[in-house]
Amino acid sequence: MNPCPCGRAGQVRPRCECPAPKVQHYRARISGPLLDRIDLQLTLPVVEAQAIDDAAPAPEALTTAQARELVCAARARQQQRQGCCNARLGPAETLQHCRAEPAGMQLLRLAVEKQGHSARAQHRILRVARSIADLDSRDAVIANDVAEALAMRWER
Ligand SMILES: [Zn+2]
Repeated sequence: MNPCPCGRAGQVRPRCECPAPKVQHYRARISGPLLDRIDLQLTLPVVEAQAIDDAAPAPEALTTAQARELVCAARARQQQRQGCCNARLGPAETLQHCRAEPAGMQLLRLAVEKQGHSARAQHRILRVARSIADLDSRDAVIANDVAEALAMRWER
């Protein structure tokens, strides 16, 4: 979705001139409970047409084939561990399989205090963190994984 009715919120040139109440009203059109069900919420910077034209893949970027291999390996880990992929875990299973190390759980608690994530959102964050660890072939979900998962939730 766009960040505001004109789509230029946060942009310097041309600047967004949407009044704050209009932006709030616009964003409120997607309900909290609906947004809660979206695992990955990223804010993307505006890309100038010229930049798209000039874009060359970053040297460290994965090829599609490499990314596919990583995802297949992560999904195989999930199948072996719990018989389904992380996205299909219920609340109790999420706590069983996706619990982060103490520092990670502490980070999640702090984020919940600050941003008021719902229980549903907290489980989603843990499942995303678990998936990040799986992509890294790690058994332990560490604080970094939780931080990365939190970074992929849009703050309202
Ligand atoms: Zn705007």
